[in-house]
Amino acid sequence: MSAISGNTAGCPDERGYFGNYGGAFVPPVLEGVLRGIREAYLELRVTGEFIDELRDLYLHYIGRPSPVYFAKNLTALVGGSSIYLKREDLNHTGAHKINHCMGEALVARRMGKTRLIAETGAGQHGVALATAAAITGLPCTIYMGTVDMEKERPNVTRMRLLGAEVVPVSRGLGTLKDAVDAAFEAYMEDPEGQFYAIGSVVGPDPFPMMVRDFQTVVGLEAREQFLEMTGGLPDCLVACVGGGSNAIGLFTAFLDDPGIDIYGVEPSGRGFRPGQHAATLTLGSPGLIHGFRCYLLQDEEGEPLPVYSVASGLDYPGVGPQHSHLKDTGRVRYETVSDSEAIEAFRVLSRVEGIIPALESAHAVAFSMELARRLGPGKSVLVNLSGRGDKDLDFVVDNYGL
Ligand SMILES: *Cc1c(COP(=O)(O)O)cnc(C)c1O
Repeated sequence: MSAISGNTAGCPDERGYFGNYGGAFVPPVLEGVLRGIREAYLELRVTGEFIDELRDLYLHYIGRPSPVYFAKNLTALVGGSSIYLKREDLNHTGAHKINHCMGEALVARRMGKTRLIAETGAGQHGVALATAAAITGLPCTIYMGTVDMEKERPNVTRMRLLGAEVVPVSRGLGTLKDAVDAAFEAYMEDPEGQFYAIGSVVGPDPFPMMVRDFQTVVGLEAREQFLEMTGGLPDCLVACVGGGSNAIGLFTAFLDDPGIDIYGVEPSGRGFRPGQHAATLTLGSPGLIHGFRCYLLQDEEGEPLPVYSVASGLDYPGVGPQHSHLKDTGRVRYETVSDSEAIEAFRVLSRVEGIIPALESAHAVAFSMELARRLGPGKSVLVNLSGRGDKDLDFVVDNYGL
């Protein structure tokens, strides 16, 4: 099993750009710090000892490789192309996020950093990072809005049990944006000693590259598994896109196969009115957010617009710079799925396959069903099932019924 792949020819370039996107727009004091992380990481990713340590954790702790599963009941129900699921929901902690949190924690420890720091919205990134902190023995501080803490009590309890300090942020609206501000301020007090672990393929260089590399294991495994199962490669790939880490993790191993159609799925939420969706690549325009350039949902002044999705992991007004580039080159097509389509797919997959997907992943499942129907029998669609839906049960039942 391969652990990391750096086989992503010239992407990003030495300045951290994927085409016109990416870069590092940060205060001068951070420029040197980020350069230090980039250099340390580029060296670590070709260091046998580091690769072995990460591979060992993937194998024995996260439970990799996750299976590829032929969803025969779903395929029969849809009556079209064969649908396969890459089961990232079966990882320890229940989603793909642990892959890159583990990688970031190992980089931080090897660089001699003394603390991991991050913000979290619904708590998924916080839990994955707190887990990686526990196993690597690094102290961890997570900033979280007080409103989000109230909504996501089980995740707050999990983080604290795992030994992380959860700092309530009550300023502003007490949600994700305020937590980002508070975490960033705390980070700036000691950017050399602390490591700000970013939760997706976003942020300033080198994070989009580093987080991608730690997720490429998903596509490398899936490619091998699919070949072994079917004797060929899939015709299409599908993954949901919030910041874009699970999607780029699956896509990277297949980008050089021109015969494979690749789809990223964004949330159209309650419809295409401002504030009701988070379809960044579909409706956004190039801009600047959190220290990097990407497609952005923004107002005339370039301020990020409010966003919404039933899946809290997908509601970010920006998106990874590599996805922005892949949209422009046309190599990946970005489509949308609404709240109600995702909820329907959540129910269908649970009932016919006995797999309760995360609401984020349900967006990818919904699109794959439509695609399989459209393409008809004889083709295959490989979907990244990025996480399990236990975290979403109460929300779905309370708001949509059983
Ligand atoms: C956080 C999350 C996502 C969205 O993040 P990406 O970086 O776009 O992958 C998708 N699925 C699950 C289960 C998540 O927890």
